Amino acid sequence: MQIEPNADLSTLNTLALSGRARAFARAADAGDIDTALDFARAQGLAVLPWGGGSNIVVAGDVDALVLQVATRGRQLLSSTGDTVLLRIEAGENWHDLVRWTVEQGYSGLANLALIPGTVGAAPIQNIGAYGVELEPFVDAVHGRRIDSGEPIRLSARDCAFGYRDSIFKGELRDTVVITAVDLRLSASAAVECSYPGLAARLTEQGIARPAPRDVFDAVVAIRRARLPDPAKEPNAGSFFKNPLVSAGQAEVLQRTEPEMPSFAAGQGLVKIPAAWLIERCGWKGLVRDGVGVHPAHSLVLVNCGANIGERLLQLAADIRASVQARFAIDLEIEPRIYGAAT
Ligand code: FAD
Ligand code: NAP
Repeated sequence: MQIEPNADLSTLNTLALSGRARAFARAADAGDIDTALDFARAQGLAVLPWGGGSNIVVAGDVDALVLQVATRGRQLLSSTGDTVLLRIEAGENWHDLVRWTVEQGYSGLANLALIPGTVGAAPIQNIGAYGVELEPFVDAVHGRRIDSGEPIRLSARDCAFGYRDSIFKGELRDTVVITAVDLRLSASAAVECSYPGLAARLTEQGIARPAPRDVFDAVVAIRRARLPDPAKEPNAGSFFKNPLVSAGQAEVLQRTEPEMPSFAAGQGLVKIPAAWLIERCGWKGLVRDGVGVHPAHSLVLVNCGANIGERLLQLAADIRASVQARFAIDLEIEPRIYGAAT
């Protein structure tokens, strides 16, 4: 494995933002991960684990060893009845894994089709889409501690998964390189297809009792039609999390904004689609200084050629300020921000 100094990050993030890393290494196996961690420790360098760069804002040069985890492998650990326990190496492509599990007849992950990135990054924000999150399928997450190289194993409970959240964004932030994820999947698990857009598409197609393959195909088709392809319009998916507010605050807002959509989120909280708030503040489709808000999806910020992370973050700050001023709601940026501006 080569450790490249002063490495260009612009092709390693789906927003295509410019920036350089003090050093970069791509780990193809566990030995490479150990070598990279030893190197960083010897040089006194911070280590930033990296996957596909689809949830990262490069805001400038990154004073760290960027360690792209590119390890591959899918292993059957055990099989009981129609349930399997699989160990998936962190560098596996998430969507390829989902397709493979569907082809094998396992239920559950189909709703998470076409989410870009790697398996190792999936637990970081407990990826979710179309009414399903990663959490219920995780048996354990394996990794290495960045400071010591020691192996670490976390059960699903240890991971403290939440809405687009986990311990890896909190207590263990920047301290662990995830090397593998153990997933428990079943052929007989219920197919989840109550999410409105998904249910509508299946109904349109006359599919009353969808199999995992039907859900997979429907999610792929909806996403291809609805979400901008980062290869053509560089983006990081949803730029903000959907805010959770108290039921009381939602009720007050709905008195003046009766069309505001909201979804019960448990514990007296209500989820408001951030896209709606942003659109309502007039941002949809706006392009400024080479960055913009996608015309079809106001939760997606796009690099329209500026290639400068700070411009994107300035746009995000202005969007947040206007949503705060109009709705008294604080939008939280979803992707991690790395580089000089942090
Ligand atoms: P990266 O962007 O490389 O990294 C993201 C974070 O994870 C960073 O903090 C990084 O340090 C950390 N990380 C990465 N790999 C490791 C590792 N091995 N060990 C430790 N830390 C690691 N997300 C959803 O939840 N649902 C969606 O539906 C969804 N749709 C998207 C659609 C588009 C078009 C795009 C561009 C993004 C979308 N995302 C979605 C966001 C993103 O795809 C996910 O968060 C994904 O899991 C990121 O994977 P990655 O490998 O690209 O991670
Ligand atoms: P959408 O269907 O237009 O819905 C807008 C928002 O409303 C979604 O974000 C969703 O929250 C929420 N929502 C809709 N119906 C809901 C229900 N019945 N119960 C609870 N919440 C509901 O969303 P979209 O933008 O096209 O995205 C479709 C799915 O893909 C969503 O789940 C979204 O999270 C996911 N996605 C995520 C990213 C990312 O980068 N994180 C990017 C693209 C798509 P949730 O987001 O909580 O589901």
